[in-house]
Amino acid sequence: MKHIVVVGGGTAGWLTANYLSAKLGDSAGGAFRISLVESKDIPTIGVGEATTPSLRATMADIGADEYDFMRACNATFKHGILFVNWTRAPADDPEDAYFHPFERPLRAGTDGMEAYWLRGLDPSGRKFEDAVGIQHNLARLHLAPKNPDDRPYEAPIPYAYHLDAGLLADALKRLGKQREVKHVVDTITGVDADATGLIKGLQLAGGETLAGDIFIDCSGFASILIEKHYGREFKDCNGILFCDAAAACQIPNAGGEARIAPFTRSTAKENGWIWDIGLSNRRGTGYVYSTRHAGQEEAHKVLREYIRASVEPARAAEVDALPIRDLKFRVGYRPEQWHRNCVAAGLSSGFIEPLESTGIHLVEQSAWALASMIPRFFNGLEPQKQFNLIMSSHYEMAMNFVKYHYLLSQRADSDFWKENRDPASWTPWLREKVEQWRGSYPDIYDLERLHTIFDHASYQYVYFGMEGRPKISTIGGKRDKFAVAVFNRVSGGLENAKKRLPGHEAFLAAIHERRREGAAGIEVQQVERLAKVNTSIRNIPNNYTA
Ligand code: FAD
Repeated sequence: MKHIVVVGGGTAGWLTANYLSAKLGDSAGGAFRISLVESKDIPTIGVGEATTPSLRATMADIGADEYDFMRACNATFKHGILFVNWTRAPADDPEDAYFHPFERPLRAGTDGMEAYWLRGLDPSGRKFEDAVGIQHNLARLHLAPKNPDDRPYEAPIPYAYHLDAGLLADALKRLGKQREVKHVVDTITGVDADATGLIKGLQLAGGETLAGDIFIDCSGFASILIEKHYGREFKDCNGILFCDAAAACQIPNAGGEARIAPFTRSTAKENGWIWDIGLSNRRGTGYVYSTRHAGQEEAHKVLREYIRASVEPARAAEVDALPIRDLKFRVGYRPEQWHRNCVAAGLSSGFIEPLESTGIHLVEQSAWALASMIPRFFNGLEPQKQFNLIMSSHYEMAMNFVKYHYLLSQRADSDFWKENRDPASWTPWLREKVEQWRGSYPDIYDLERLHTIFDHASYQYVYFGMEGRPKISTIGGKRDKFAVAVFNRVSGGLENAKKRLPGHEAFLAAIHERRREGAAGIEVQQVERLAKVNTSIRNIPNNYTA
């Protein structure tokens, strides 16, 4: 039996260990045993609150009950992200906002709706995201994405979660220990390698050596194996994405009347942007900024002003006293994440500014690929090159998409925005796409890379949301009557959904109430039940309008 050793007990470590255990572990019929080693003296990063819909598939495959898992990490639902003042500064347009939902834009047969929408055929004259789907309105109306009768992890519309990443790691730790992940608490002080350069074991401060056959480096920014031992290159992307620090603050919910938004709010500021995320017990906020353009003191001031303006005046003194935590990070990734018998995952493999919640998503992508590729590795098929290509593609495309939000901005109220809009700071891929989309708009045929979460639909929401308009005279679309009927179907779909869906706060109260009745953390579910859950979990269409 081959031994997989996961290094690090943060979200990346526990998620990877559980996923590999579920897919490759002994009890899943595999030929692997799994250990996880973490230091009690080196803390986890402890931030990371917004996720992508893929987490549903991952948690289902891992074997976690959806509502137990949500209770365990104070989770709420997420329909997408509201971008405020990204196109124009508040002084120029206090109402500036658009929404990036998870649902895909409706289509008229094989035609996209973009051309029809551009020609003004939506009878209700709505914004793009509201003309081609319902999710922004579900979010705005504070409706849950699903009904208690929907099966676990399923709904007629795609959704993700907001959660406390520290509690997620704790919950996954309990689950991993319940199954077969051997938990070692010790600090790694050295590495034993053989003459060919393969890692054979990890020296622990307690005096033992932890031997293994493959090592997954989830040691966070410390990157103790991939960087400190193997010295693999880090591709720094700070010239493209300028933000390299965050000031974070948590605000307790104010009693029973607290409204919990089922979407992430991202508000652009002079030198970065503020995340605002509602959990069941608190709001998480943070100012992500560029230290080249703003100092820590200014960042604290901007964050405090934002928080003060977002609470009842009676709470001003209370929120002013809340502590702010400062974090510094390096944006970029390692092109070679799998080297010999060591694979980096999570922050040790790279980090993209968290505007589109890509941190945990990239951990999932790596775990999914490893479950398929680790057996090939031990069969001598050398999947390293392919793994590195795929993960590099994920990182490059996540970086491109995050940058895309900046370069479409019309803001010129600071050097930060002027430099972001300067093509000198764009990647060649973005320069090409921006040129192409001056003449047309993001289209289903424009994204040649498979390994990206952000397809043409995501680019369309940002493009149209930030007032991108093509300069083409013939924009296609010959089925006008059909298109009008499809736009009207969106209105009908929204009415159906409003009748069926419970309010977000009411659904959360029902989920979290059960905790008080004694529900105990995450339990491993029956294999039969999981098999049922997993059949239709990926790419669920929006059934309200489909
Ligand atoms: P860590 O949490 O740092 O864990 C490292 C582990 O390695 C620890 O257990 C530590 O004890 C162990 N370790 C280190 N050295 C040793 C040693 N010598 N011996 C033994 N053990 C060792 N992601 C999202 O998906 N959504 C978000 O909204 C989001 N927001 C973010 C905001 C900010 C400001 C930042 C910086 C990140 C954000 N992320 C977000 C990313 C997210 O936090 C990480 O991707 C995720 O937490 C994974 O971290 P990790 O497990 O790789 O590292």
